[in-house]
Amino acid sequence: MAPIDVRQFINGKFVPSRDDETFDLFSPYSGECVAKVSEATVDDVDQAVAAAKAAFPAWSTMSPQQRGKSLAKLAQMITDADAELAQLDALSLGRPISSYFDGYYAAGQFRYFSEAAYPVGTSSLNTPGFMNVSLRQPYGVCAAIIPWNAPLVFFGKKLAPALAAGNTVLIKTSEKAPLTSDRVAKMLNEAGFPPGVVNVLHGHGHVAGAAISSHMEIRALSFTGSVRTGRAIQKAVADSNFKHLIFELGGKSPAIIFDDADLERAAQETQNSIMWHSGQTCMANSRIYVQKGIAEKFIQTFNGFAAARKLGDPALMETMSGPQVDRTQFETVMRYVEEGKKTGQMMATGAAMPKENGDLFVGPVVFLQQPEDAKVMKEEIFGPVVCINTFETEQEALKCANDSEFGLYAAVYTTDINRALRVAKGLESGMVGVNCTSPTGAWDMPFGGYKGSGIGRESFLDSMDDWLEQKAVYIRVDGVEKAVGVNNTLG
Ligand code: NAD
Repeated sequence: MAPIDVRQFINGKFVPSRDDETFDLFSPYSGECVAKVSEATVDDVDQAVAAAKAAFPAWSTMSPQQRGKSLAKLAQMITDADAELAQLDALSLGRPISSYFDGYYAAGQFRYFSEAAYPVGTSSLNTPGFMNVSLRQPYGVCAAIIPWNAPLVFFGKKLAPALAAGNTVLIKTSEKAPLTSDRVAKMLNEAGFPPGVVNVLHGHGHVAGAAISSHMEIRALSFTGSVRTGRAIQKAVADSNFKHLIFELGGKSPAIIFDDADLERAAQETQNSIMWHSGQTCMANSRIYVQKGIAEKFIQTFNGFAAARKLGDPALMETMSGPQVDRTQFETVMRYVEEGKKTGQMMATGAAMPKENGDLFVGPVVFLQQPEDAKVMKEEIFGPVVCINTFETEQEALKCANDSEFGLYAAVYTTDINRALRVAKGLESGMVGVNCTSPTGAWDMPFGGYKGSGIGRESFLDSMDDWLEQKAVYIRVDGVEKAVGVNNTLG
């Protein structure tokens, strides 16, 4: 298959980058070059900003229904292309099509916000002589920078509310995962988005990403990615125009399994959470705390599920786990595996690294009884590596679960409703699952993390607030108290 030609989408047209540079994208499964990707320069970012700026007056003054029509049409087009989009991620990310839900999620976001695009403000009669109103207005030019692991999920999460609110946007894809965003960019004109309303840029973070972060005309920026990049962006923003920031960062999610839990379900779901997409998910429960009395049975059941995972060709439906996304990621994971072997015990079963499946595959790795301060317990690995520790009391489990810089997702398994609710309340985490892990299809719930896992929440209706400025308008009205029957003597 000839490599796919991926270009910048600026002002409604597919164009090469300003200096015509490209880079090759390789399949982590076959090693073949699958795309030649245009590398965005600082100039390309400037052009995209200029296009978005020019498109803003018309887009922001359209009725919400008109904007909603384009969002809804795009949702349908994404749904129609679902199978093709899944294969593109399999090709470039090695992500099994069996774990693909991005089309469903992204279409869901565009559909949801197509009907939700009616920002209203508040009004007040609390100032004597005044009838005040607040307006919610779009920022203008906004941007998004997204990671590689579930690219279309982030495309939808960020762009749907931003566009519904009346902003114009540029989005930078990950250098590891431009294909699905490029495919969706090809739908934008037909969906009815005027040129410049959405601009899709491809390229590396230190060039295009840095130019976006420090751009003086971008007013709001939503980023999903690593803590390290989040820090770089925050510094760039502090040194430029203090743009409004939304951050979705890493995780080191705990799952607490009490001895009255449905053990089979807990083992299967926690195993799937960490091994799904070969551990390359932010919400994966990489730390499992299991109550002592059921620990042996739990570990045995967990390992049974882990060992049964079928690793292989990501393009096939029967495949459960693909390779790591690239050699850098593979080597990072293997470094942590070596580190974990020094600090704790690695299970012999369900912990194989099957060489026969190709050189970027890492099989399920299960560590037992790692010290709480071990590197593998503290740092996000982003691979199929899980640490299982035991606990005796609810307090102990909560203390260990909360002893992390991260706070993205946490799960508790128990059949005691009071305990479930106590623990859910006590967990320092933006999202908590009770008898479940990561229900990823719920796009009407706030998605985001406590502590080092981010700033702000995405996905749900109120996330539109992040894409809207608020303006208080004070209106002096002679005799307003008399007219509306308010006896306001505060002033
Ligand atoms: P990354 O931080 O390496 O890259 C993310 C994006 O930032 C890419 O588009 C990259 O090009 C860009 N970038 C890199 N350097 C930049 C810079 N200096 N300035 C501006 N942009 C720059 O992350 P990744 O490896 O793509 O993704 C994995 C990380 O994302 C993990 O930490 C994972 O937990 C996190 N993640 C979080 C969530 C969430 O919702 N909280 C979801 C998915 C992934």
